[in-house]
Amino acid sequence: MRCTVIGAGVCGLTCAVRLLEAGWAVEVVAAKFTPETTSDRAAAIWYPFLVAPADRADAWALASYRVFAEMAVGEPDAGVVMRTGREYLRQPGEMPGWRDAVEHFRPLEPDELPGEYAHGWEFEVPIIEMPRYMAWLQARCEALGGRLTQRHLASLAGAGGDALVNCSGLGARELAGDDDLHPVRGQVLYLDQTPSRGYFDQQSETLAYVIPRSDCTVLGGTAQDGDWNESPDGDDSELILRRCRAMWPNLDESRITGAAVGLRPARSAVRLELEPGARPLVHNYGHGGAGVTLSWGCADEVVALLTAVSAAT
Ligand SMILES: Cc1cc2nc3c(=O)[nH]c(=O)nc-3n(C[C@H](O)[C@H](O)[C@H](O)COP(=O)(O)OP(=O)(O)OC[C@H]3O[C@@H](n4cnc5c(N)ncnc54)[C@H](O)[C@@H]3O)c2cc1C
Repeated sequence: MRCTVIGAGVCGLTCAVRLLEAGWAVEVVAAKFTPETTSDRAAAIWYPFLVAPADRADAWALASYRVFAEMAVGEPDAGVVMRTGREYLRQPGEMPGWRDAVEHFRPLEPDELPGEYAHGWEFEVPIIEMPRYMAWLQARCEALGGRLTQRHLASLAGAGGDALVNCSGLGARELAGDDDLHPVRGQVLYLDQTPSRGYFDQQSETLAYVIPRSDCTVLGGTAQDGDWNESPDGDDSELILRRCRAMWPNLDESRITGAAVGLRPARSAVRLELEPGARPLVHNYGHGGAGVTLSWGCADEVVALLTAVSAAT
């Protein structure tokens, strides 16, 4: 059976890998490949953020957590590392529902909280260095026999194959006629300075984060609903620096090396479902701020849906 995966972001490539592993012949058709996709802009930390529905998202996220944790040990070229990090809150807040499923989760002691914070926790999660990871994922797809074709599709009908998987991210607004899908703009800065603790830090209420990579540190971020501007903005850079400095007072802004913007494909809920029709079509888009976090769990469900429908026909 031949399957066409539309989209070469993290969701499309992960589905392609899982389909190839399950024995499908796969062609990935996309207007843009790495390093030009939204996925390449992701920070990226494993964290179910800006995504719904919570129950399905948590299950997909935890399945992905396990895959990334194995990769951190067994795939040195993938750019995945397990890191301890801290999340700070200004007001005491509810602890995340997934706390028992991740490694080394513990509430912070009062003397571990920087000045203005009231509450927080420490936990170990995967950090995914997207420039390295996307290149690795695409290479894995090709090594398994996946074919990559660069093409902008005007419609889903324009794609070949016995089955389709729609991982077109924000492009699904046009391809699937989905007005629920909208951009949530995210800006990040890159810095050639490493925080001394080597931890990642984040503050979810203001969406601030400091994520060390092997070649730089990523500072974030913003979440601007409905904003299509893909250019970095000076005021946003100032805001990011101010918030990150609250967590990392020694941050040296003279060492900023660049900025980037990505448009998160946000939706009231992830659309992962089979659309009935003459040819099997599975939609897998609308992952908001958690496409990397959910990628492997969603890909497993896509393959299960396609396998079930193919067995029935
Ligand atoms: C600043 C920022 C930080 C982020 N941090 C994190 C994080 O820490 N953790 C996390 O899990 N997530 C994070 N995210 C979210 C994550 O980046 C997205 O959820 C994820 O990239 C979505 O992946 P995708 O494959 O669905 O879409 P995309 O990466 O956008 O890929 C879509 C693909 O579809 C193709 N396509 C679209 N329309 C067409 C068409 N008509 N014809 C052909 N091809 C088409 C595109 O060319 C592209 O290849 C962050 C996002 C941003 C912007």
